[in-house]
Amino acid sequence: MINLEIPKKLKPIIAQANMVGANVFRPISRKYDTAEHAYPKELDMLAALMDGINDSGKGSGASAGGLAQADASKEEGVRNGANMATVLGMVELCWGDCGLALTIPRQGLGNAAIAAVATPEQKKRFGKVWAAMAITEPGAGSDSAAIRTTATLDGDEWVINGEKIFVTAGERANAVVVWASLDLSAGRATIKSFVVPKGTPGMQVVRLDKKLGIRASDTATLSFNDCRIPKDNILGSAEFDTKKSFAGVMKTFDNTRPVVAAMAIGVARASLELATKILAKANVHPDYAKSATEMSAIEDELYRLEAELEAARLLTLKAAWMADNRIPNSMEASMAKAKAGRVANEITLRCVELCGPIGYGETELLEKWARDSKILDIFEGTQQIQMLIVARRLLGKTSADLR
Ligand SMILES: Cc1cc2nc3c(=O)[nH]c(=O)nc-3n(C[C@H](O)[C@H](O)[C@H](O)COP(=O)(O)OP(=O)(O)OC[C@H]3O[C@@H](n4cnc5c(N)ncnc54)[C@H](O)[C@@H]3O)c2cc1C
Repeated sequence: MINLEIPKKLKPIIAQANMVGANVFRPISRKYDTAEHAYPKELDMLAALMDGINDSGKGSGASAGGLAQADASKEEGVRNGANMATVLGMVELCWGDCGLALTIPRQGLGNAAIAAVATPEQKKRFGKVWAAMAITEPGAGSDSAAIRTTATLDGDEWVINGEKIFVTAGERANAVVVWASLDLSAGRATIKSFVVPKGTPGMQVVRLDKKLGIRASDTATLSFNDCRIPKDNILGSAEFDTKKSFAGVMKTFDNTRPVVAAMAIGVARASLELATKILAKANVHPDYAKSATEMSAIEDELYRLEAELEAARLLTLKAAWMADNRIPNSMEASMAKAKAGRVANEITLRCVELCGPIGYGETELLEKWARDSKILDIFEGTQQIQMLIVARRLLGKTSADLR
C-alpha cells in the first residue's frame, strides 16, 4: 500500500535538487530566459558533479533529476525506486528553473524512454548518453500513431527517413530517441524507438524555435535523410504484432508523464511561495487558525491554490509509486499530468494577478514562471489528450471507440 510520507532514503535527493534549484538555477534564470539559445555553460559543472556522485556510489540510485537512472531499487516488497526519486528531484529542480532543468546534460526525456523500453544490455550501453526524445512530426502531434518517419533494415543497419519537430534538447543532447515505423502499411504496432547518436550522417538540425517560455531549453526541428544506425540501436525488440497497439513505445509515457507533472508542481510551488512572500509585505498573512468569516478574499484564494497544488502532488506521487512497483499506471500517469498541468497554469497566472504590477514585471520571476508553465500542459500529451485517456480507461473504451 502507498505511504505518502516522503521516504527517508530519498530526502537527500530532494535536498540536493533543492540546493541546485536555489544556488545554480535561480541566479542564472533570467539570464538564459533573455538570452534564448545561448548554452548555459554553468550546467556542465553540475553534470560533472552529478556524474561524480553517481560513479562514487554515493548517489542513491537516481541522480537529482534522476531521469538517467530509472532502474527501480532492488528492495523486495513495496518500493520507492527511481521513478519516485526522479519525480521528487524534478519538483525541486523546476522550483529552481524548469527550462534549465530540461537542459541538464544526461537528464533528457529520451533517457526516460531508454529506461522504459531498453534491454538490460542497452540500458548499460546508453547509460551515460544524454538523450532527447523525438516523437512529434508536422503531421503527428497528439495523434502519435500518425507518424510517417520510417526505419528500414538494410543489412546490419537501420535506415531512418523523416522529419521531427519540437525536439527538446534536440541540438544539445548527444543522442536522440526517434519514433519510427517499420512498416507504414501495417499500422501503429510497427512503431518502435531508435537511438540515433549525435553526428550520425543524415541527421541534421534544421532550425531552433523561439518560444513563449522555457527559453533556456533548446527546441529543435530535425531531419533524417538515409540516416544509418546500428541494428542493435532499436530499443527493445523489432518484433511486432499488428493485432496489438503500440504498447511498447507507449510505455515511455507511463514513466515520463509523472515527471512532467512533477515539473509543473515545481513551477507552481515556486510561484505560490513567492506570491505569498510578496503579499506578506502588503499585510496578507495566511493563518489556518482563522475562521472562514475572518479570512480575506486573498487568503481564501491562497488556500484554494495550495489545495489544488497538493491534489496534483499526491496524484503524481501515486503515479510514480505505481511505476516503481510495476503496477500498470497509464490512467494515473495521465490523471497526474492533466491535473498538474492545469493547476500549474492556473496557479502561476493567478500569482501574477494577485501580485499586481510586481507580478507582471520583470524584477521578479512570477511572469516568467507563468510563461514557463504553459508548455507543461502541452508536451508529453496535452490536457485534452490526458482527459481522453482517462475517459477511455474509466469507460473501458479503445482509442477507436473514443477519439
Ligand atoms: C516547447 C515544446 C517542446 C516540445 N518537446 C517535445 C519533445 O521533446 N519531443 C516530442 O516528440 N514532442 C515535443 N513537443 C511536441 C508536443 O508534445 C506537441 O506539441 C503536443 O503533443 C501537441 O501536439 P500538436 O502541437 O501537434 O497539437 P495538435 O495535436 O494539433 O492539437 C492541437 C489542439 O487540439 C487538441 N486536440 C487534439 N486532438 C484532440 C482530441 N482528440 N480531442 C480533444 N482535443 C484534441 C489538443 O489538445 C491541442 O489543444 C514539444 C512542443 C513544444 C511546444
